[in-house]
Amino acid sequence: MYIKKQRLLTPGPTPLLPQALHAMMGADIHHRTEDFRQLYKSVLTDLKTVMGTKNDVIILVSSGTGALEASAVNFLSPGDAVLILSAGKFGERWENVAKAYGLRAVTLKSPYGEVVSPERVEKALAENPDVRAVMLQASETSTGSAHNVEAIAALVKKTPAILVLDAITGLGTMPLDIDGWGLDIVVGGSQKAFMIPPGISFLSISQKAWALNESAKLPRFYFDLKRELKNAVNGESAWTPNTSLLLAMAESLKYIKNLGMDKLVANAQMLARATRAAAATLGLEVFSSSPGGSVTAIQAPAGMDSGVIVKEFRQRFGAIITNGQGEMKGQIFRIAHLGYFDFMDLFSMVAALEVILNANGHPVVYGSGVAAVQQIYAEAAQLPVPTPALVGA
Ligand SMILES: *Cc1c(COP(=O)(O)O)cnc(C)c1O
Repeated sequence: MYIKKQRLLTPGPTPLLPQALHAMMGADIHHRTEDFRQLYKSVLTDLKTVMGTKNDVIILVSSGTGALEASAVNFLSPGDAVLILSAGKFGERWENVAKAYGLRAVTLKSPYGEVVSPERVEKALAENPDVRAVMLQASETSTGSAHNVEAIAALVKKTPAILVLDAITGLGTMPLDIDGWGLDIVVGGSQKAFMIPPGISFLSISQKAWALNESAKLPRFYFDLKRELKNAVNGESAWTPNTSLLLAMAESLKYIKNLGMDKLVANAQMLARATRAAAATLGLEVFSSSPGGSVTAIQAPAGMDSGVIVKEFRQRFGAIITNGQGEMKGQIFRIAHLGYFDFMDLFSMVAALEVILNANGHPVVYGSGVAAVQQIYAEAAQLPVPTPALVGA
């Protein structure tokens, strides 16, 4: 009936940076040429800059899970003990990786919507001195929670174990001081805060982790990080790289470098804060008790299936948002903030949500959620407080 622009508003894949998307059309280059070597070297250098680390950084042709798998098979041996912090669907992915490779998992579980406290990690490390790796999510995308990475890393640093951080939605949404905090392996993916399509993953690797690589016996072939590192030094990848996504990545890294990684993080965190304020105003509850900056999971009003909200975003407004995963399906819907999201996006998402709530038996005052977002924007932009005469006149 009316125009509906399709908008991808999920926490991965995320909205694409236009100049990155356009750069992908230059993919008719060969990967064993000087042109490519220059591209690859500059992407690796910029990625290190943006991640803020002096550690080695390696890029793989896979979605994020490939790099999670690589960070197990390159540093561990069959039967090794690993400590897994599991507080959502992605924590469960670590459990599945461990199972697939015959690792001995000590799992610290928390209910969906909560996180694993540093205190529990401290106790588990003391009780299991043979733990070789501690695996966790910086940001648990399925519940919208953030772990206290700094505190947990400080505990792991004192042990022989390496910290293996799934930062796939943590990078660009929360401060992560890789070198300062001693984050041994930090995994990222292209389709999250890096604003480009899915298909490449990457990870930084500390010297402590490389030392484990020497004796690690788990089988590996395609994801052999030592081999990749050797090639990367020369500006090449071991196998055929994802040329088009590397062209896109070069543009997105340029964009993030110009903006500043800290500003990208602050952007996501401010949008998350504004979303929580809007939810409260609309009488909705945020699902997580430790909400992070990548995505806000909001509980559907009592008696309403969150799938209705997700469906109506698409049908009424052409906007793709996400439902809960697994057992959280129907309970929550998720508003993303990571990467190329801005206040204009959030104003319209909250306005659309108000329409959808009213259409489905959860009456709210039109504009009240939007006003909460405007308030946070105005504070951040240091705008004058409107005089009462202008408000609600
Ligand atoms: C998206 C995501 C992944 C990776 O999933 P892929 O589909 O393999 O890209 C892993 N962990 C978290 C926390 C994520 O958000």
